[in-house]
Amino acid sequence: MKVKVLPSITDPRSQLLISFLVNDRLSIDAGALAFHLTGEQLLAVNDILLTHVHLDHIASLPFIFSEMFTDIVKPVKVHASAADIDRLMAHVFNNVIWPNFTKIRNAHGDLLEFVPFQHNVPFELTGLTCTAVPVTHTVETCGVVLQDDHSCVAFTSDTGVTDAFWHHLNQLDRLDAVFVDVAFDNALEGVANASQHLTPRLLVEELKKLHRPTQILAVNLKPVCREIVTAEVNALGLPNVHVAHLDVEYSW
Ligand SMILES: [Zn+2]
Repeated sequence: MKVKVLPSITDPRSQLLISFLVNDRLSIDAGALAFHLTGEQLLAVNDILLTHVHLDHIASLPFIFSEMFTDIVKPVKVHASAADIDRLMAHVFNNVIWPNFTKIRNAHGDLLEFVPFQHNVPFELTGLTCTAVPVTHTVETCGVVLQDDHSCVAFTSDTGVTDAFWHHLNQLDRLDAVFVDVAFDNALEGVANASQHLTPRLLVEELKKLHRPTQILAVNLKPVCREIVTAEVNALGLPNVHVAHLDVEYSW
């Protein structure tokens, strides 16, 4: 399985907007997706799995359908919880903020298809088994576990202190890596707790719940404290814990 953490186009060193490109075909969230990829790369992504509907995770989603309007040959499938699909229809694709692209067709047919998933119920997507597992954030949010025949990679999405997600990971047959939210530095733990994100200190506490060795890649670092978080993660001295590189393909 190949995973690339997409940077934001505003600053290639930052992850202001959140997207993970998996095997060039699946995107976990769509914050930077349509802003970062070329048109050809974007057309290859036929499935988008949304962990929640905060703006930094969906910002580029509406533009896929306007930018690629004539080029989309089969509808882009957006997988999300039923409640999040309702939120996107009510607040984004509502013919006010943006057109309702579920009702607009091009010469090839439909452009956008929403596909609901349920938490903790595995489903198949682009040759991967996906499981959405609830985490703890200010809005309904799921982490994601992706499995194929020879690898398993998990993403916390945005989360504060949480339990069910780590419990789920402890039950897996294998686990190669976890991309973990470490948004704020230790001095901003109050902000992290209020907005339900993690800091390097909280990460150490969370990892005590994971009863297996695996690679930990810190992501979702807020641009304003990226350098401090990076220094604090490095100072942990944990050989399996690193800040994820942006725009670099990880492979398992
Ligand atoms: Zn969020």
